Amino acid sequence: MSDNRVKSIVIVGGGTSGWMSAAALAKVLGPTYSITLVESEEIGTVGVGEATIPMIKVFNQALELDEADFIRSTKGSFKLGIEFVNWGQVGDSYIHGFGKIGQDLGLTAFYHYWLKARQLGQAEDFDHYSICTAAARANKFMPAVPDRPNSPLADLGYAYHFDAGLYAKYLRAYSEKRGVTRIEGKVKEVQQRPDDGFIDAIVLESGQRIPGQLFIDCTGFRGLLIEQTLKAGYVDWSHWLPANRAAALQCETNGPLTPYTRSTAQEAGWQWRIPLQHRVGNGYVFSNEYISEDEACAKLLSRLEGRPLMDPKVLRFTTGKRRKFWDKNVVAVGLSSGFMEPLESTSIHLIQSAIARLTNFWPREGFDQTDIDEFNAHSDFEFDKIRDFLILHYHATERTDTPFWNYVRTMDVPESLKRKLALFKSNGRVYRQAEELFAEPSWVQVMLGQRLQPAGYSGMVDAIDSEAAVRHVQTVGGVIASCVRAMPTHQDFIARHCAAPMAA
Ligand code: FAD
Repeated sequence: MSDNRVKSIVIVGGGTSGWMSAAALAKVLGPTYSITLVESEEIGTVGVGEATIPMIKVFNQALELDEADFIRSTKGSFKLGIEFVNWGQVGDSYIHGFGKIGQDLGLTAFYHYWLKARQLGQAEDFDHYSICTAAARANKFMPAVPDRPNSPLADLGYAYHFDAGLYAKYLRAYSEKRGVTRIEGKVKEVQQRPDDGFIDAIVLESGQRIPGQLFIDCTGFRGLLIEQTLKAGYVDWSHWLPANRAAALQCETNGPLTPYTRSTAQEAGWQWRIPLQHRVGNGYVFSNEYISEDEACAKLLSRLEGRPLMDPKVLRFTTGKRRKFWDKNVVAVGLSSGFMEPLESTSIHLIQSAIARLTNFWPREGFDQTDIDEFNAHSDFEFDKIRDFLILHYHATERTDTPFWNYVRTMDVPESLKRKLALFKSNGRVYRQAEELFAEPSWVQVMLGQRLQPAGYSGMVDAIDSEAAVRHVQTVGGVIASCVRAMPTHQDFIARHCAAPMAA
């Protein structure tokens, strides 16, 4: 009996996407499959991508990583959400916190009760009703306590910040231990089968030929296989997400170790701040139509909290997605599949979900076009929904102070986003569509944070009297505040459980 199973996998690229793919496939496929990863130290990696969302924990659990060892090895920290500064108006600050908001009553979401209580002048800012946001504001952190089902501590969602270089190194060690073969070298030629264009092999500058059945393109913005070879095409979203550059650098820490990412809106984009144990990552994401690269670098340097540890590095990109994520026997994972800018730290998640999707559609005997089409449709849906959520941050603003903000505030947005905005503005309703990544709490926090005020709230709230609704909101706020008071500081938690050894 002939064995046509896809058993020889070649991963091209050794950035975050390459090593995440290698680690996950080595774990799920086991030693009878051959996994080879090719990377070029000379070309290097983008070297950014240090903030994540809570689903990364699922990935780490699937790999059976020890959390404390992982944090220590990547000099990481914990992330309870993202603080958005100056987005609705200069001077504003809100947090998109992870996890649940408040406590739902019956089938009606907590935030509807808050909307009513707020209209009656009886509720504090929305920030007070998310355990993650309230803890982030107080620089506190602890993991969830799942065995306390009625406590907000059971709902504490979190993610990580980590050093991208150390993360790839960590996953490389993990993968090599499980049989992945790493080959150093630059791909100079991609060989296709003459009959159907499937990729047969890659050839390195050294002359080494590496054949394979399935190729995973993790070559970053280059898209060496998916685009340069197969010409899968790209959907350009820069009219909606106009940032096309990022100036990035690291600086010394100056202040407490905060458990959240900060995103500060600037004149022509926004600036990130990612706190790690040994340094702070910073970057100015901007559009070069509104500010030059030199000026953006100068602005970034002038806004650092500590001494810079390097010169700014400018990265160039076009926001959008690949037209086909999987084409023939090539699957694009990571930046080769598209990039929607780092505003909500979604790229590493997209790597993880592409790998999970690939395992769901793993070919049995050769390749099946219906599987490939379905894989691509799921990927499209995921990208489109995240795109809308990102556009929301730019579009729902009252800022009129620079040409950049005037453009994004007045631009036409996708119909799918228009519907979501209209629904929220009337009665504060938000619906999560199918498996879209961001659920109701995320949309509500960002919409309110960006100064969208719904006219009403769900009619279900009026099924109980106003005093009871207000009492519920106030009780939830009080319980969250007392939980936060009892939590350790983020710094203390790390010192106790997962402090990284600091090199001299
Ligand atoms: P790369 O890191 O570019 O790796 C490409 C690999 O391919 C390298 O190993 C390179 O050597 C290899 N390669 C390329 N060509 C060849 C060749 N010819 N021969 C051999 N090897 C080759 N994501 C988040 O989730 N959170 C964030 O906070 C975040 N911030 C970001 C900020 C910016 C400014 C940018 C641009 C991205 C950010 N991302 C973020 C995205 C994140 O950085 C990427 O998703 C992640 O690093 C994966 O990159 P990659 O592995 O696809 O590509």
